[in-house]
Amino acid sequence: MGVSVSVLASGSRGNSTIVQSSSTRILVDAGISCRETFKRMKACGEDPRSLSAILITHEHTDHVYGLLTLAKKLSVPVFMTGPTHQAWARAMRDETGERPVLARFEVFSAGRGFQIGDIAVTPFTIPHDAVDPVGFTFRAEGVKVGIATDLGYVPVSVCDHLRGCDVLMVESNHDVEMLRGGPYPWSVKQRVASRVGHLSNEALAQFFATDYDGNASYIVLAHISEQNNHPEVARRAAEKALSSRRTFYYRVMVAAQSEAMQPIQL
Ligand SMILES: [Zn+2]
Ligand SMILES: [Zn+2]
Repeated sequence: MGVSVSVLASGSRGNSTIVQSSSTRILVDAGISCRETFKRMKACGEDPRSLSAILITHEHTDHVYGLLTLAKKLSVPVFMTGPTHQAWARAMRDETGERPVLARFEVFSAGRGFQIGDIAVTPFTIPHDAVDPVGFTFRAEGVKVGIATDLGYVPVSVCDHLRGCDVLMVESNHDVEMLRGGPYPWSVKQRVASRVGHLSNEALAQFFATDYDGNASYIVLAHISEQNNHPEVARRAAEKALSSRRTFYYRVMVAAQSEAMQPIQL
């Protein structure tokens, strides 16, 4: 069967991705409802009951919206950093009046690798306005998958983690001009464009043209803004930057908000 990556949803209205080996299935973020997660998993030919774990990158709603219901229904372990768990629990308590309880909760720290089944997970810090946001790399069966969305810029440490990936899922949130002229209030525009906001097509292109090692067979452009970007604008910017590099065969895919992307099989 090998390793595969299925992006169930990507964008400011919910993020959820499955990374799996032959024997282990990890859900990265639970940003869409439990019902929608099940529906999209089934559409990809996946059985929700076969999930091994849920990993959370940070506490923003578009990454945790369906978490509590999913964790209850599936009774799988949920992995979060300590500060992210606290922030999430506080927000849930403020919303519902009671502190949420996860039957199986595992804590991890950015920079410290751990194992889930046969998948080696490495969480790393990313610059974003959450309490303790992380990206992940996953290694299994000789394949490396990297996921880095929700980051204001690409620091050297993140470049290092993303080296050698076979599948690279990275944020291409907005086109700088579209954001500037778009409908958001000024304060929100400032937040998105800041060093702890979201990665622009231009900043990602800069990464592709300079620090990226050209290793990935699949590049997934993710967390695309529906107001301040367009899938084809993001794709063109990425492909233009990538074409300046001497790389082997690769494919650029764009993850969508409203439907699951065709699974990547390695
Ligand atoms: Zn997000
Ligand atoms: Zn976020």
